[in-house]
Amino acid sequence: MKKKIMITKKSKHEIKLMAAAGSIVAEVLEVMRDVVKPGITTLELDTIAERIIKENKAIPAFKGYRGFPATICASVNEQVVHGIPNEHTVLKNGDVLSVDVGVVYRGLIGDAAITIPVGDISAEVSKLLEETNAALYDAIEKAVAGNDLREVSGAIEDRAKKFGYGIVKQYGGHGVGRSLHEDPFIFNYRTEAPGPILKSGYVIAIEPMFNLGTGDVHELDDSWTVVTNDNKYSAHFEHTILITDDKPEILTIKS
Ligand code: MG
Repeated sequence: MKKKIMITKKSKHEIKLMAAAGSIVAEVLEVMRDVVKPGITTLELDTIAERIIKENKAIPAFKGYRGFPATICASVNEQVVHGIPNEHTVLKNGDVLSVDVGVVYRGLIGDAAITIPVGDISAEVSKLLEETNAALYDAIEKAVAGNDLREVSGAIEDRAKKFGYGIVKQYGGHGVGRSLHEDPFIFNYRTEAPGPILKSGYVIAIEPMFNLGTGDVHELDDSWTVVTNDNKYSAHFEHTILITDDKPEILTIKS
């Protein structure tokens, strides 16, 4: 039997708290962009992120989630998502670092990610970052009440195809609210089956992941870090979005 999808509409109060959580997420990512430089370790970044979240009277959403040991996911180069911050990973010129962060504020969650260049990166990798971020905004544009979620997914696929990037199919976006991962799952490519139809009050995290080479990925022995099968670079961008009858609202921005 097909599993029934349960999507919850958020109340005005919940949306307010999600925007507050999202603002803290945005602050963390802004600081990450500032402090990411050759020589810094991903553990140092994790410490900074956790401090900002706690200063804002909030809680890291990932720490302890299914046993994840850190505040941010820090994924370098061929690592796609879920990299674990550690003292041995020293960033160097030419790397890219994907930082994913989730924040719980008074019970509600905001979730976003960016991929940050470390020093000077190649034009090819720079373009990968630019287009993955652009795919996120293509998808956000489709995230309005009355639209089929497939259109959101399809917008991501269309941009990947245009530039020949590998799409990571095993991971994707999700509903978010009081839980980090709620229905619906959001594929980063157009599915065969239609639906669900988006409604005002839904909140979803959209997160395209594009690879320079193959879209195929696997998990490392740590049971977390996801890497590309061909070891080519990957990029990841994410925002938490409120669906309305009008324009989509990005909740993971500073307010
Ligand atoms: Mg997410």
